[in-house]
Amino acid sequence: MGEKIIPLADHRYAAAVPTVPGRLVAPTGLLGDRLGRPLHDLRISVTDRCNFRCSYCMPKEVFDKHYAFLPQTSLLSFEEITRLAGLFVAHGVEKLRLTGGEPLLRKNLEALIAMLAALRTPGGRPLDLTLTTNGSLLQRKAQALKDAGLQRITVSLDALDDTIFRRMNDVDFPVGEVLDGIEEARRVGLGPIKVNMVVKRGTNDHEILPMARHFRERFGGQVVLRFIEYMDVGATNGWRMNEVLPSAEVVQRIAAEFPLEPLEASAPGETAQRWRYADGGGEIGVISSVTQAFCRDCNRARLSTEGKLFLCLFAHHGHDLRALLRGGYDDAQIAAAIGAVWQARDDRYSELRGQQAADPGSGQRRVEMHYIGG
Ligand code: SF4
Repeated sequence: MGEKIIPLADHRYAAAVPTVPGRLVAPTGLLGDRLGRPLHDLRISVTDRCNFRCSYCMPKEVFDKHYAFLPQTSLLSFEEITRLAGLFVAHGVEKLRLTGGEPLLRKNLEALIAMLAALRTPGGRPLDLTLTTNGSLLQRKAQALKDAGLQRITVSLDALDDTIFRRMNDVDFPVGEVLDGIEEARRVGLGPIKVNMVVKRGTNDHEILPMARHFRERFGGQVVLRFIEYMDVGATNGWRMNEVLPSAEVVQRIAAEFPLEPLEASAPGETAQRWRYADGGGEIGVISSVTQAFCRDCNRARLSTEGKLFLCLFAHHGHDLRALLRGGYDDAQIAAAIGAVWQARDDRYSELRGQQAADPGSGQRRVEMHYIGG
């Protein structure tokens, strides 16, 4: 796919990043991995901390007051994040998603958003700049995020019922504040808004229809509600297959009350299968990593809070780009390392889930979601 190959010998920094394959790839914007998947989306985790303790991501028993979160000094600065983002854009990235932990906990995040909003694709187009939040701080911050250049937002909300919501975030946080945050995001124009609900059978699956009714009635087409299959991310959430409610059943339940029609994907690599309400009442989506894997066109890379590049949500290890940033390497060298890492990528965990091949580093712990974002 037109990559320019540079012999490794010219570059000393292979030692700094032992995981970089034996050759480097300069940015041409046409980069493909071993399965021919382009590099299109970059998810940037700006903090590993969160003010919630959702059991499927950060169970309280593990992430308690003794848990050692990353020290400030190890976090990438806003300048480092922006520099790296620019190099990913040179390789073809057109979409940036800010994640965490809870990204709105990172101080002065608006400054980073303004820096990223100023980036342009090699063709001069602005990037698609979005953010995923648990909504706890959204009512207070929505206007400032919008003013800084954020275009749209995704809010995680696992239940409408206050008791269930408080139990699922496990810090007794009231659902009303998140709903107010979504209203405020709409008011300031951070749309289209997506609301993501992780569905866990026996925990909140009876909230599927109340959620669908609420967002239909209250927001019509202005909010897209997406239902995410409960995943075996990380190594701490005690995942069991019998707690997964397949997306097909979610669609069936909703269609029984609100007839649905399938929609085409809005972009290559889109994670959600889209459905529209036949009566024009808006759209929903299902994200089915467990029962209908979508690795075939996965074009997402993830950057951890301390500058490691991860090629899959279920990866065991990352590639340390911070060592290059702080090791005095220039943009061309770092971009070439990114290219080489992506080009050697063949991750497809969800397709292979349950097979030995899915876990080449069996015995090694999968990276935690609060550390690289969803
Ligand atoms: S399992 Fe990994 S390769 Fe597959 S879609 Fe998810 S992030 Fe992409």
